Amino acid sequence: MRKQIAAANWKMNLTLTEGIQLAEDILKNEFDLNKSRAVLMAVPFPYLISIQQLLKGQANIHVCAQNCASTKNGAYTGEVSAEMLNSIGVHYVLIGHSERREYYHEDNALLAAKVNLALANEVVPVFCCGEPLAVREAETQNAFVENQLKESIFHLSADQMKGFIIAYEPIWAIGTGKTASSDQAQELHAHIRSVIAAQYGAEVAESVTILYGGSVKAANAADIFGKPDVDGGLVGGASLIASEFSTIIKSLK
Ligand code: PEP
Repeated sequence: MRKQIAAANWKMNLTLTEGIQLAEDILKNEFDLNKSRAVLMAVPFPYLISIQQLLKGQANIHVCAQNCASTKNGAYTGEVSAEMLNSIGVHYVLIGHSERREYYHEDNALLAAKVNLALANEVVPVFCCGEPLAVREAETQNAFVENQLKESIFHLSADQMKGFIIAYEPIWAIGTGKTASSDQAQELHAHIRSVIAAQYGAEVAESVTILYGGSVKAANAADIFGKPDVDGGLVGGASLIASEFSTIIKSLK
């Protein structure tokens, strides 16, 4: 089975003490994680090493950065490179979250550069895509998401695309309490998989993990994750509550 993933996105929330408490509370639960199930915790940069220490010895639970620079190194005050992440043993990074696209004007070309740098530095990108409300209302979400993939990741080789991780997050469902229905999620995920299949072949497409993001919570996770092309979730608000996120992890296929 392709990898099923529950990914927490803490965004710019929690003090270090609160974050450690949250991670400890989550770890009090027993999870049936194995080769095909994993948990990611995308925490703020300053907490990566502390949370990584706390997760030491936990099989298949990894820290993840929320961003990395689009340039290799140099005079870019405030930026954190993929190479730096690798150097502290962080091997996952969110790239292209809609909040970064919207507030920091990250476009598809810039995100392609970030994806390349992550891969070159052995950091696995979790590539985020998804349409705004106006696009959904115009019913052009398939073409919109397809274009995001084409411009940011379809330059990759088939080998690089094998096992790649994508998070589909309709912007109108992020942090709004409005969730796409499990059928709407499945429909878009199936479309993403078919576009990957057209570009790279069915075998590669079948290996790609596609997470759903947008107001996932304990109460709806099993329904959404139960859909055949949904391979887990990227979770914001509910990942800040230990009991919620623990149930979400347990809802993985
Ligand atoms: C997110 O931050 O990626 C997200 C999906 O947030 P929320 O779960 O709060 O909608």
